[in-house]
Formats: sequence, structure tokens, C-alpha cells
Amino acid sequence: MSILTDIKEIFTGLSITLRHIFRKPVTVQFPEERRPMPERFRGSIVLTRDPDGAERCVACYLCSGACPVDCISMAAAEGENGRRYAAWFRINFSRCILCGLCAEACPTLAIQMSPEMFNCRRQVIDMVYEKEDLLIDGTGKDPDYNFYRHAGIGVVQPRGSGDGEQAPFDPRSLMP
Ligand code: SF4
Ligand code: SF4
Repeated sequence: MSILTDIKEIFTGLSITLRHIFRKPVTVQFPEERRPMPERFRGSIVLTRDPDGAERCVACYLCSGACPVDCISMAAAEGENGRRYAAWFRINFSRCILCGLCAEACPTLAIQMSPEMFNCRRQVIDMVYEKEDLLIDGTGKDPDYNFYRHAGIGVVQPRGSGDGEQAPFDPRSLMP
């Protein structure tokens, strides 16, 4: 009885092997081959630009405040046209847990999680990315969004001429 059971088990195993032997392999030869990742995959972080090519980041520190491991740091500066930008912007990826909270907090959609796999490094210091390493030429996931066109303070266009924006009025004109 046990011999019959053993033979049955052998043939069961062989039949599974035979079934799989003619199937297309699912193995991906990483890193030479890469699977396309879903759009919402939280891969390496990038800083994106507005559709007009300007840097989206206004150095508001919200991403830095939202980061649970405190790995984002920057210094704010202001351009001649009144537009704020990050004089320097740094992410220490050796601490980053790719949680995406920074991207959720960003009001300008500047910081985004890309579907790119993160490249690991042997040296911890090489995991510290500066603004030049993070800034990409494109708009990322939101190609039409332009923070300053919605909320710009007279930088992209005069006050009152933004999308859905009312013209400013002088509150003193309401006084008796
Ligand atoms: S993904 Fe999370 S841990 Fe990484 S920088 Fe953003 S908030 Fe911090
Ligand atoms: S990336 Fe976004 S949240 Fe972070 S400082 Fe720049 S504008 Fe603010």
C-alpha cells in the first residue's frame, strides 16, 4: 500500500514538472531586464518642474515636516520675481522608507514618487542626493498642473487674473 502511495506521489510530482516545463518562464533577469512597475509604485523620489519648465518646489518645508524619519532638508531662497525656490534640497535615502508622505504633503506636486526602482549604493554617503540629483526635466505625473498659475502671487500673472481668481479689491472702499 505504501509503495503504491509512493509511486502515485512520484507521478504526481512528475506531472507537475511536465506541466510547467512547456510554460513560458516568468523569471526576469534583473537588473538587465526590468518589469514595468505600476504608476503608483513608490520608487525613487524626484523633484519635478512646472509645464513652463520652472522648478515646482517653493521650499515650503511641508515635505520635510511630514517625513517620519526626518531625511529631507533644504534652505529657502527667493528669486527676483518673488518666486521662492530651494537654494539647496537634500534627501538622505539611507534613511528614507519610501512611505510617500512627502509627496502627499507637497502643495505644488514638486516632490513625487517615481516608478523607478531605487538604486542601492555601497557607501552611505552616496545615498545622500542633492537637488541636482533629484530634479528632472519633466512634470512627472501631473503634466498640466502649475502651482503658480493657481496660487501664484503676482509672479506668473498679475493678481486676479489666475484661473477662477477674483480681482482684488480695496477693503477701504467698503468703509463709510
Ligand atoms: S518617502 Fe517617506 S521617508 Fe522618504 S523622504 Fe518621503 S516622507 Fe521621508
Ligand atoms: S517639495 Fe513640495 S512640500 Fe517639499 S518644500 Fe518643495 S514645495 Fe514644499
